Amino acid sequence: MRYVISGAAGFIGSHLCERLIAEGHDVVCVDNLITGHRENVEHLLHNPRFEFIEHDICKPFDLPGQVHRVLHLASLASPVDYLNHPIETLDSGSIGTKHMLELALRRNARFLLTSTSECYGDPLEHPQSETYWGNVNPVGIRSCYDESKRYAEALTMAYHRKHAMKTSIARIFNTYGPRMALNDGRVVPAFIDQALRGRNLSVFGDGSQTRSFCYVSDLVDGLLRLLESGEPSPVNLGNPREMTILEFANIIRERFGNTVSISFHPLPIDDPKLRQPDIDKARRILRWEPKVPLEEGLGITIDFFRDKIEGGSSASVDARARVMNRPDQVQPAL
Ligand code: UDP
Repeated sequence: MRYVISGAAGFIGSHLCERLIAEGHDVVCVDNLITGHRENVEHLLHNPRFEFIEHDICKPFDLPGQVHRVLHLASLASPVDYLNHPIETLDSGSIGTKHMLELALRRNARFLLTSTSECYGDPLEHPQSETYWGNVNPVGIRSCYDESKRYAEALTMAYHRKHAMKTSIARIFNTYGPRMALNDGRVVPAFIDQALRGRNLSVFGDGSQTRSFCYVSDLVDGLLRLLESGEPSPVNLGNPREMTILEFANIIRERFGNTVSISFHPLPIDDPKLRQPDIDKARRILRWEPKVPLEEGLGITIDFFRDKIEGGSSASVDARARVMNRPDQVQPAL
């Protein structure tokens, strides 16, 4: 089959391309490289079944030839990136989603949207199941991401209902693995980068907020199962093993022989306090659950970042703290 994937030069997109090419499919990668990197798909460029198109999906898009599957991954997914590019983030969730849906409609192709656990905002229900409608601040600093994805979900459901299109919506929880950007400020690359450089791990707040980390190959498997499932309503994809950020910091410290310490920094505004996916629906409908234990996935990810750093990559893990606490990011008075 021929797959068109927006955001395919990003972290998750590049792993998806790799898997599809390995399975013998044709893949068209569409990316404007705002946060994606050509080097993420460099190893696929020589493959005649892989095509790279540098294009901003917020501009109209079409291509010659058959299309069987359309996947819309393009978005700025890390808090540092979407806070730096709030309008582009809203555009990729709204205009970008519409362009990809229109492409799927014209070609009678199945469509998959990668949505997010951020749809649940700072959740009042725990763990989060798909039936929970969320607790999102619609004008907070994270709203550019949360609301763009919520709109994208609404638009996808509208196309499904109006045009009887085969659509799927994946609500992705925290995912990690090789090819995350070392300097995107997310906790996994941030802590690994700091540990590799012998610096203190920067825990935000008191570290009691929780997250659940899913290894990227598990996630990719879930996405492809969902795409073929015919299930139109949102499905959570994530690892249900929940831990506090402080526990996570200590896991990283132990892996480095407790050679690094922890330093505490202000908690970013609207940082969700608890996050854990309820994956009963994915288990039931997709027969999917994560397989890669955190310890194993972290080992692969640490090796990847070690190679990158030894290859001379310069990261700025303080970038996130600077952006999240900037004066223009304070809450508007309501
Ligand atoms: N975090 C942290 N130190 C860092 C980066 C993140 O303590 O250097 C915390 C952050 O406040 C959040 C959690 O780790 O509670 C996950 O943050 P990330 O940016 O990875 O993803 P999020 O789940 O917030 O989208």
